[in-house]
Amino acid sequence: MLVFSHSDCAGHVTPPGHPERVERLAAVEAGLSGLAVERRDCPMGDEADVLRCHPARYLARVKGAVPEAGWTQLDGDTYMSPGSYHAAMRAVGGICAAVDAVVTGEARSAFVACRPPGHHAERETAMGFCLFGTVAIGAKRALDHHGLARVAIVDFDVHHGNGTQDLLWDEGRCLFASSHQMPLYPGTGRAEERGAHGQVLNVPLRAGSGGVEMRAAYERLVFPALEAWQPELLLISAGFDAHADDPLAGLEWQAEDYGWLTGRLCDFAGGRVVSTLEGGYDLSALAASVAAHVQVLEERGR
Ligand SMILES: [Zn+2]
Repeated sequence: MLVFSHSDCAGHVTPPGHPERVERLAAVEAGLSGLAVERRDCPMGDEADVLRCHPARYLARVKGAVPEAGWTQLDGDTYMSPGSYHAAMRAVGGICAAVDAVVTGEARSAFVACRPPGHHAERETAMGFCLFGTVAIGAKRALDHHGLARVAIVDFDVHHGNGTQDLLWDEGRCLFASSHQMPLYPGTGRAEERGAHGQVLNVPLRAGSGGVEMRAAYERLVFPALEAWQPELLLISAGFDAHADDPLAGLEWQAEDYGWLTGRLCDFAGGRVVSTLEGGYDLSALAASVAAHVQVLEERGR
């Protein structure tokens, strides 16, 4: 079990009071402490990997938006500081290195502990704290670089992975399944949104619902879809903001729900799982949930 991270990810600094803050990384580290994982530094991301999902003009726009000091605001809640581009590119490098390691059999599973997150970034739109579609870039790396035929992404962040859906809408080789509170930001993710090939599965959950409802929804909808899809690799958009203590949303999951869900997801793709950090904004809940998630990945990857 590999964990990828990099000190550059602390160089993405958001304005005071912003929930997606540097301190999240210390909470993630607290969650990882004591777990028997092998640590690796993320390499710098390769622009060619980004360009499988985003056009060159968007990459150039993001790179050109890096401020010399302070912040550039890209949308209502997405900011760049002087270190943001490098942080986002470490996340890209981390997921690609994680995919490489798991696809080649060097490791059974991997977790990418980077920020900024990625699942809200659309082809040409930074939004929702996200610059590049990290998990979609990882899926494309598995498909186009390694030649896999079928991969799947499960996004259990409390918000819909609109960016991943946008980037992979036409990608018939990747099942994208997202569970999310609805209604909630960004407003997409209705069950009727199915992708160009019927390969998108959106599972809206009602505000106030908890682990019981989540488990039932996954058993009824997501696991059968994964069983039918038979992916060779499973990627996870691991947001931990469906936790009951999270300030941004209203689901009632507990840390043990993340452990249960992780274990069930390891039943697919022969246990070849690459997970990447998305949301999670209560620091104690984030630490406990990351611990539950990565502990199961480590146990199942032995
Ligand atoms: Zn989220």
